[in-house]
Amino acid sequence: MTHHVLMNLNQVTRTFVMGEVTVEALKETSLQVYQGELLVILGPSGSGKSTLLNIMGGMDLPSTGELFFNGENLSQAGDALLTQFRRKEIGFVFQFYNLIPDLTAQENVELAANLVENPLPVAKMLAEVGLAERKDHFPSQLSGGEQQRVSIARAAAKNPRLLLCDEPTGALDHQTGKRILGLLSKINRESGSTVIIVTHNTVIGEMANRVVRMRSGKIVKITGNPSPVAPERIDW
Ligand code: ADP
Ligand code: MG
Repeated sequence: MTHHVLMNLNQVTRTFVMGEVTVEALKETSLQVYQGELLVILGPSGSGKSTLLNIMGGMDLPSTGELFFNGENLSQAGDALLTQFRRKEIGFVFQFYNLIPDLTAQENVELAANLVENPLPVAKMLAEVGLAERKDHFPSQLSGGEQQRVSIARAAAKNPRLLLCDEPTGALDHQTGKRILGLLSKINRESGSTVIIVTHNTVIGEMANRVVRMRSGKIVKITGNPSPVAPERIDW
């Protein structure tokens, strides 16, 4: 981990307007993300974690404020630049995997790998997540944990600078969840991708370099963790 700022959020807000009702999902939020760190974002349901992550991944834009990636102002970016940013720089892991149901495990990973110029080898990524033998299986033929491992292989195959994970263990049992966290930590250490994990599960914060705590659309605390715990040793 370096102190190079990979992403900088400057007083970002996000407001959703639905008829008469306005929801301030994200109140003025400033955060710097360092290249190579493993950041865990904690907070109860509805505190704005996914809203924040979606903005960091270029899937949504701030209502006000600025977002910089490697010095480039994405809040001013047009659709084309934002699409490039998502394709080239971001890997995304979702709670419910979001695999394409009529593509095999291997084809799901290939699809993502084909978006970038220098992907990591697809077969190697599937082997890394322990699914080399199941590469020809469709998502419906795989368990939840296996589907999440495919989705991690898919995100990691892009060798993205930023790997964003929204409740990646939220649908998994404890043992399977720990394996998933182990994989994310390994990617962070070995490929140097900056990894951000969003969760409501506070103990997962123990594996982070830094923990960001959210409440009611705001960051309320940022804590550095001088000695992160290996995911295998975290229990919940
Ligand atoms: P978390 O991920 O921490 O559970 P979210 O970021 O999903 O929280 O949501 C924060 C708040 O914003 C919630 O009150 C939620 O209902 C609201 N919200 C999120 N996305 C939308 C949307 N697309 N339209 C309207 N309200 C939304
Ligand atoms: Mg959420």
